[in-house]
Amino acid sequence: MKKLLTSAGLLLGAGPLARAVNRFPRPDFESGYQYPEYSYAVPNEMLWDIIDVSVLLILLGIVTWALFKKRTRGPILAVSVVSVGYFGFFRGGCVCSIGSIQNIALAFVDPSYSLPIAVFLFFIIPIVFAFLFGRVFCAGVCPFGAVQDLVNVKNFRISRAVSGALSVIPWIYLAFALLYALTRTRFLICRFDPFIGIFRLGGDIGVISFGIVLLLMSIFTGRPFCRFLCPYGAILNVVSRASIFKVKITPKPCISCDLCHDSCPVDAIKAPYGNRTGETPTEGVKRIVIYMAVLPVLMLAGALILRWSSPDLARANSEVRLYEMVTEYEASFSDVMEPEVEAFYSQGRNLAELEASKDEVLKSFRLYSTLAGILIGLVVGLKLLEMSLKRGRKEYEIDYGHCVGCAKCFDYCPQNKILAKNE
Ligand code: SF4
Ligand code: SF4
Repeated sequence: MKKLLTSAGLLLGAGPLARAVNRFPRPDFESGYQYPEYSYAVPNEMLWDIIDVSVLLILLGIVTWALFKKRTRGPILAVSVVSVGYFGFFRGGCVCSIGSIQNIALAFVDPSYSLPIAVFLFFIIPIVFAFLFGRVFCAGVCPFGAVQDLVNVKNFRISRAVSGALSVIPWIYLAFALLYALTRTRFLICRFDPFIGIFRLGGDIGVISFGIVLLLMSIFTGRPFCRFLCPYGAILNVVSRASIFKVKITPKPCISCDLCHDSCPVDAIKAPYGNRTGETPTEGVKRIVIYMAVLPVLMLAGALILRWSSPDLARANSEVRLYEMVTEYEASFSDVMEPEVEAFYSQGRNLAELEASKDEVLKSFRLYSTLAGILIGLVVGLKLLEMSLKRGRKEYEIDYGHCVGCAKCFDYCPQNKILAKNE
């Protein structure tokens, strides 16, 4: 036990050291300042990248094996603990698949940005696994999903209508995260990450409080962040619907006993039902045609609303803000100069150059805001369509978009118990 505690202490203590590598070039001081010699061995960045990617692959492998081969939750629980300990507290939540969306977006528009290979791998590997096996990354490999899963005690159900409406939020968040990354404004996901501050034991108090609220909510309802906020989960939701291998509650025929229904923390088990609306096929087709006709209208509305809002959205960009500050200063001739304005003049920049740069930013905001609006309109329209589909179902089925592969339902199914007895 003593050894275990010592190792855990070393692991946590080494966390800040692991992050103390030079991720950015050092400032070049003109004053002749000399950097002191390191008095400790600087860990090799490349080595940490290799370790991170290896841990990611190993944990994904364990979850896939536990879910498909062993059909048991124990190893997934162990993976969750390791993920929270290693990716969460030890590595400080960075590198992270959720945030990597922004790096990928930035790499598309900025040829001068060199995308770190580890970031690319953290983005693509969980997607490849989702395409093969569903959301095995969410099961326990993602430290954010794992930490919510570990504190979950109860599963109070949220009504389908409310959870359906809330499930649009990750797409809106994704649209805005992409907008701000593509316009080189800021990395929204990193700025408002609710769990990083908890893992690093410090940070913006408002964001940490939000993370604590999410964790408290996770005690009573499964994974609120994964279901109603995570933009990477939105991508995995789509990919895993088309996954090649699909997890099943039981490999034996379902006897519709309903025992598994309430076990799912993310409400991904759909109960069987007939055509309760009494709708004729013609009426059903008519309704779907109407929703299909509304879809382009929603996309157009989204595009127009965000395009019109783009000048306001662009005010978060440093060049746009600086232009406003400099023009305001020049118009007022005040004696008080903001530090940003002072830096602008000391860099020898002129207003015409700043205006051209601001116009360039506004142009890209107009374009990407329009695309973000189209995406949001499309998602809202498809969600309405999905919620209105009344396909009859004969047995209990998993919704593969929402299933996070936690394996909690396995133990509830009597068919699995019969299977285990016979083995
Ligand atoms: S494995 Fe079962 S309990 Fe877990 S998310 Fe999927 S359907 Fe729900
Ligand atoms: S517990 Fe098993 S048998 Fe019962 S409804 Fe769920 S999948 Fe079907």
